[in-house]
Amino acid sequence: MRSAICFAVLVIAALTANTAQARSATLVMLNGKIWTENPRQPEAEALAIEGNQILSVGSSAAMRKLAGPDCKIIDLGGRRVVPGFNDSHVHLISGGDGLISVRLENANSLEEFRRRLGDYARSLSKGVWIRNGNWDHQRWSPAELPTHEAIDAVTPDNPVFVWRYDGHMALANALAMKLAGLDRNTKDPPGGEIVRDQQGNPTGILKDQATAIVERVIPPPPESEIDTGLEAAMHEAAIHGVTSVQQMWDGPADRYSAEKFRELQKFARDGRLTVRIYNANPLRDWKSLATAGVQASFGNPVLRMGNLKSFADGALGAETAWMDAPFADRPGYSGLASADLMDSAGMFANIQGADKAGLQISIHAIGDRAIHTVLDLFERAEREDGPADRRFRIEHVQHLRPDDAGRFKSLGVIASMQPYHAIDDGRWAGKVLGPERIHTSYAWRLLLDHGAVLAFGSDWPVAPLDPLSGIYAAVTRRTLDGKHPQGWVPEQRITVAEAVHAYTVGSAFAEHQEKVKGSLEAGKLADLVVLTDDIFRIKPDDLDKARVYMTVFDGSVIYTAVTGR
Ligand SMILES: [Zn+2]
Repeated sequence: MRSAICFAVLVIAALTANTAQARSATLVMLNGKIWTENPRQPEAEALAIEGNQILSVGSSAAMRKLAGPDCKIIDLGGRRVVPGFNDSHVHLISGGDGLISVRLENANSLEEFRRRLGDYARSLSKGVWIRNGNWDHQRWSPAELPTHEAIDAVTPDNPVFVWRYDGHMALANALAMKLAGLDRNTKDPPGGEIVRDQQGNPTGILKDQATAIVERVIPPPPESEIDTGLEAAMHEAAIHGVTSVQQMWDGPADRYSAEKFRELQKFARDGRLTVRIYNANPLRDWKSLATAGVQASFGNPVLRMGNLKSFADGALGAETAWMDAPFADRPGYSGLASADLMDSAGMFANIQGADKAGLQISIHAIGDRAIHTVLDLFERAEREDGPADRRFRIEHVQHLRPDDAGRFKSLGVIASMQPYHAIDDGRWAGKVLGPERIHTSYAWRLLLDHGAVLAFGSDWPVAPLDPLSGIYAAVTRRTLDGKHPQGWVPEQRITVAEAVHAYTVGSAFAEHQEKVKGSLEAGKLADLVVLTDDIFRIKPDDLDKARVYMTVFDGSVIYTAVTGR
C-alpha cells in the first residue's frame, strides 16, 4: 500500500515535471487582437507557441508567464491576427515556374508582349524553351489572339510555348511548331483546336487538347529550375500569409507531376518547405496509390497526398463549361463535358475504386450540368459503398442550379471555391449566362445558408495567390472593371468572418486536417498571420488595401513586411 502511494506520488511528480518542462514557450505574441476560429474562445489578446505548436491562448499577462529562457517576444501593437491561410486550390509549382519565367500577365499591348518575349529570349542560351507567360489578349486593343508571326523575329533561336493565363490555350512560335512537327497537315485532336489562318496554316495558337502536340516535345524541366520555381512560389505564399496549400494536378498537359512531387519530397526532407502541401494526383491514376495502400491525407504535417483530381467540364470564359441550357450568346450550344466525363461509366468506376480504397476525390465542375452530374456520381458512390468519412469535393462550383445547393450538405460534398474568379468573370459572365442564371453564380450565400462546407482558395496562377483579395471579392463582389460598386449579384455576398472561416477551418476540413490546423488553440500547429489592418472592422471596400504584416509558419516568423502599418 505504502509503496503504491509512493509510486503515485512519483508519477504525479513526474507528470508535473513533464508539464512544467513542456510549458515553456519559444515565441510569445502579446497585445494583439487574435481571431482564433475556436468557438470556445473566439477572440484573445495574446498567444504562446512552443516549437511548432500553440501552447496557449489568452491574456498578455498570462502568456508572458509562459515564456521560456530563450523565448522570442513580439508585441503585436494591437494588430489583428488570424490563423494561417489555407488555399484549397492552387497550382503551386506552375505558379512558381511562372514567377521565374517571362512575365506576360500585365503586358498591355501586343507590342509589349513581343518586346518582353524578345528581351527574355536574349537573356537565354540558344535552344532553351520559353514557357509559361500567362498572357491575356483581352488587355490589348484590338483584343485579337497573337500569332507566331508576331514573335518569330524576336525569338529566332528559342522555341516558345507561352500560355494564356486561363490555361486553355497557348501560343507556339515557328521554331516550336517545327520541333513538334506541327504544320498545315496536322489534324485537330479530339477536344482540341489548332487555330488556322485563312490559308489553313496554323497561327501558333493551340486550344485545350491541341496544346499536347507541342507540350509533348518540351524536355522535362531541370531539377534546378523546379527548385528555383518552388522557392519563388513559397516566397509568394509567405508574403500573402498562405501557410498551407492544396496542390491540384494541372491537367492532361502536365507530364511531369512525378518529377515535381520528388522535388517536394526533397524540400520536405531538407526542412525547406515553408508552406504545407496536400498534393492531388490524377483520378485516373488511383490504382497505383490504392495498390500502395495510400489513403486520403497520408503523410506528415508538411507534405501529404491521397487526393485525386479529375475534370467534369472546361471553363466559362472558353464556353466549355457544361450547362443545362445554351449560352445566352451562342444559341443551341451549351458547352462540353470533359473527355473523362463523356465516359461517365469509366469515371464512375474510377470514383468508386478510389473511394473504396479510402482516397479522396476532387472534381472540377463549373457549369450547372457538370456540377449536377458530379453530385449524381457522388450520390451513387455513397449509396453503393455505404457510410464513410470521404469528403468528396467539387472544385470551382461556379454556376449552380438553385435546387442543387442543398445537396452539398446532404451528401457531405465540400464546395471548394475561388472567390476572386467572381470579380474577374463577373465583368462579362452576364452576357454569357443571361440575366437569370447569374443569380446562382458563385453562390456562396446560398451554399452557406444550405449548410454546405465552403473551402476557399485562389486557383493561382489563374488568380493571385492572395487570400485578402479573395476575401475582398467574397465580401464585396465588386468586379475588377469597377462597374458593380454595390456588388455583382450582391445577394450572394458573405461576411468577412464567413470568408476567413472558409480560408482556414473550411479548407482544413477539406483536407482532413481540421484537428491539427485551421484555428488558433492549444495543441494546433503554430501557423498564423498578422495583418496591417483589422479586416473585421474596416469598410469592406478597403479590404483590398489590407496587407500581411507578418507570417508565422511552424512556430517561426518567415516573413515580415518591410514597411507595415
Ligand atoms: Zn485549378
